[in-house]
Amino acid sequence: MSFDRVRVRIAPSPTGDPHVGTAYVALFNYVFAKKNGGDFIIRIEDTDQSRYRGSSEDMILRSLKWLGLSWDEGPDVGGPCGPYRQSERREIHAAHAMQLVDRGLAYRCFCTAARLDGVRKEQREKGQTTGYDRHCRDLPVAEAERRMAASEPFVIRLKMPLSGVTKFDDALRGTVEIENQRLDDQVLLKSDGYPTYHLANVVDDHLMKISHVMRAEEWISSTPKHVLLYEAFGWEKPVFCHLPLLRNTDHSKISKRKNPTSLRYYERAGILPDALLNYLGLMGWSFGDNIEIFNVEEMTSRFELKGIHLGGPIFDQTKLNWLNNQYLQKLSDDRFVSLIRDQMFAPEILKALRPFVVERMDRLDQFVDKNSFFFNGALQYDAVPLVPNGKTAAELATMVSELVERLDEEYEWDMEHLKACFDAHREAIAWKPKDYFMSVRLIVTGRKDSPPLFESLVILGREMVRFRLRDALKFLRQ
Ligand code: GLU
Repeated sequence: MSFDRVRVRIAPSPTGDPHVGTAYVALFNYVFAKKNGGDFIIRIEDTDQSRYRGSSEDMILRSLKWLGLSWDEGPDVGGPCGPYRQSERREIHAAHAMQLVDRGLAYRCFCTAARLDGVRKEQREKGQTTGYDRHCRDLPVAEAERRMAASEPFVIRLKMPLSGVTKFDDALRGTVEIENQRLDDQVLLKSDGYPTYHLANVVDDHLMKISHVMRAEEWISSTPKHVLLYEAFGWEKPVFCHLPLLRNTDHSKISKRKNPTSLRYYERAGILPDALLNYLGLMGWSFGDNIEIFNVEEMTSRFELKGIHLGGPIFDQTKLNWLNNQYLQKLSDDRFVSLIRDQMFAPEILKALRPFVVERMDRLDQFVDKNSFFFNGALQYDAVPLVPNGKTAAELATMVSELVERLDEEYEWDMEHLKACFDAHREAIAWKPKDYFMSVRLIVTGRKDSPPLFESLVILGREMVRFRLRDALKFLRQ
């Protein structure tokens, strides 16, 4: 390898909540960089405009800072290889795609969506694998130029080799290979001028001098395409290392339906950042000597890539809680007091609550009992009649699961957006307001006489509201 320095990166896409899997991959990259005296970089991959969520980048950076991870280069701190936001690098990507067209390694494709649909339909009918039929691959240059001059929309595709195999070495998995026949002529640049993930990822990893690409296992199938791109450009390839995916207790890929995945949930739930990092460090890696409790510096001192094992690590809340308890027990008095006072009973929360709770209390000593749902995690549902008269538990479960799906897409967490979201759902399923809102109130607050519902939802925050709805769903379906 001729990279003169270890440089690694994480490349999160700002498409939603900061994900626990992002923290996991960040930790391993961070530790690897520190171990090797290298650099840890954050690049935001925001070129998929249809999935872009404005507030997501801030939330991701904020959550990684909360965990105590720091980066040497990134969109907020800058660095010598910036910009670190892909949407600001579009011209670089387009110019690189054009280089490949000029060298005959990529081509303009003018096929319309309707034509591509037709091709796929025909392939399906004939029982063939679906893919692009390379219709424009050998279009004469003059014709391509004429159609471009006539403003016909086009994409740029890579000419994949039609035979042979593409191989790469994965630091954890050995040689991975795929028959080239199975690779589609990959789109590099879309008709709106935005690059695809593959082009932007490879160009930016190269220009940012990334020596080791350590990312989640789910990207393995993209890597042969990346390897062919490195070869087309004539660039040196980084070391590829695909980390095992975190899994739910039933071994399926970690998903918010079965496990909270948002880092903001863990912060809200009072998991300590050091405990969460320690827990993530146990995912697919072990410190040795039966030691389970270690900090990031200790992990760094013993870390080696070959110590990562591939059996799918299970992200288990019970174990995480146990570990968090170990950390809580070791807190100093001052730190404990400040966490309870500043995080659990944060002045902003108390101030926000005040207008709704004072009228329901005669004495201060009623505050904790009447408002416990603002501060608790999971609620007990066996003592409250969640299911309205005339409905079944199954109907309520369907209602709640649809509502959670809708709320997952709701990135503005304020009265106006929440009201619109709940009203639209209630109207769509034609539930009476009384039944609908009482069920939501009982699920989210555990009591009939809670402060006004929407105000409560706003103060509780998205993570806790979604957590309780999913928890109620489990309860209703058990
Ligand atoms: N943007 C991809 C993601 O969201 C990056 C994958 C990679 O690291 O190459 O995870």
